Amino acid sequence: MNQYLLDVLKDVENKHAGQPEFVQTVQEVFKSVEPLVDIHPEYEKADILGRMVEPERMFTFRVVWMDDNGKYHTNRGWRCQFNGALGPYKGGLRFQKNVNESIIKFLGFEQVYKNALTGLPIGGGKGGSDFDPAGKSDAEILRFCQSYMTALYRYIGPDVDVPAGDMGVGKREIGYLFGQYRRLKGVWENGVLTGKGLSYGGSLIRPEATGYGAVYYLQEVLKHEGDTIEGKRIGVSGFGNVAWGIMKKAAQLGAKVTYVSGPDGYFYDPDGVITNEKLAFIEWMRANDPMHCKPYADKYGVKFVPGTKFWGTADVDVYMPSAIQNDVTLKWAEKILDSGVRYYIEVANMPTTNEALELLRSSKKLIVAPSKAVNAGGVGVSALEMSQNSERLVWSAEEVDSQLHRMMINIHDTSAKTAEEFGLGYDLVSGANIAGFQKVATAMLEQGIF
Ligand code: GLU
Repeated sequence: MNQYLLDVLKDVENKHAGQPEFVQTVQEVFKSVEPLVDIHPEYEKADILGRMVEPERMFTFRVVWMDDNGKYHTNRGWRCQFNGALGPYKGGLRFQKNVNESIIKFLGFEQVYKNALTGLPIGGGKGGSDFDPAGKSDAEILRFCQSYMTALYRYIGPDVDVPAGDMGVGKREIGYLFGQYRRLKGVWENGVLTGKGLSYGGSLIRPEATGYGAVYYLQEVLKHEGDTIEGKRIGVSGFGNVAWGIMKKAAQLGAKVTYVSGPDGYFYDPDGVITNEKLAFIEWMRANDPMHCKPYADKYGVKFVPGTKFWGTADVDVYMPSAIQNDVTLKWAEKILDSGVRYYIEVANMPTTNEALELLRSSKKLIVAPSKAVNAGGVGVSALEMSQNSERLVWSAEEVDSQLHRMMINIHDTSAKTAEEFGLGYDLVSGANIAGFQKVATAMLEQGIF
């Protein structure tokens, strides 16, 4: 391995031994970009790799909020402003009880290259809290969001850092966060957050963007293979916002999501989650019972298998892990490989462990597409929301959707072309990592040392 790359990697492994998710993503990206680092000795001189693994700025803050019984609670908040070479830091906020510094940093690191791939002027950042939204009343969520923004508002802004949603943060939370920002600053700066409601600067298609973008990307992969999306059966893990967007777009294009898993097990609907009624029920489950997908099976009289995942056993054409990091471990990857499925399209951020990913990629038996390319449509449309806010105009759904579609075609083609240029064949993982990395590295080099 390239000695410089190895040294930086060793350093990260030693320094951050207690941050397994962060170390995992650095290992994954660094492994891919080795051929790029080999032909760019100036990276070492400018210590580009050393800079890439060190956030420009990262901070924690106390978030105190009062529950409905008048009792106080203290949570920890984070914001990681990882890399601003391409634009204002951009990335979501995750509210989930197991969030920690490692998870925020891994998400921030991924975000840097993902955002670069969109071709839009956005740097990479991420934030969140170990606050658990499960079972909280609306008033409790409001008070938490207000406290969170009170601690954060000085450090963000439309040209500084633009948070958005992630797990546990949707339109409601963004609304409460924005209301508090506006109250504290006394200015109209709606470009400070994305994923807003439509009445105050949100973009049409933003809720659907990640899922739609993932399906557009899948279409390009299929095209490359001389295949089409019509009739394809898809298995997704998760039934959150991203999975819902996949179900909707797949249905529009004549494909169908037939397997869906949740924390409690999975269901199999041979007709697919394709009708408006079923899609609305998925939305209802997400809002009201996010730990269980069994209610769908009960309501529509389809098969439910408790306590397990369907990887490798589902009779589908495409797998799209869309739930959470490290969902697919080596044991599941072995089953996926044995099943003979042709397409493994990552959607959630880092849904595959490194050893599982290595197994799937090296087998050459199936096409693996990486999440940082596949799910980039979400943040891509966030950047379009920022554009609309800057020009104080609202674009039509058709306009946003067609820009999203072009963006996803471009991300796929850039990744494929980059891999080809490096003699790697149709390697979408390396292609995406190299293309994203190179763009950020070039901007850093041209901006000098700081
Ligand atoms: N949380 C999303 C992601 O992982 C979206 C971020 C954004 O829109 O800024 O890319």
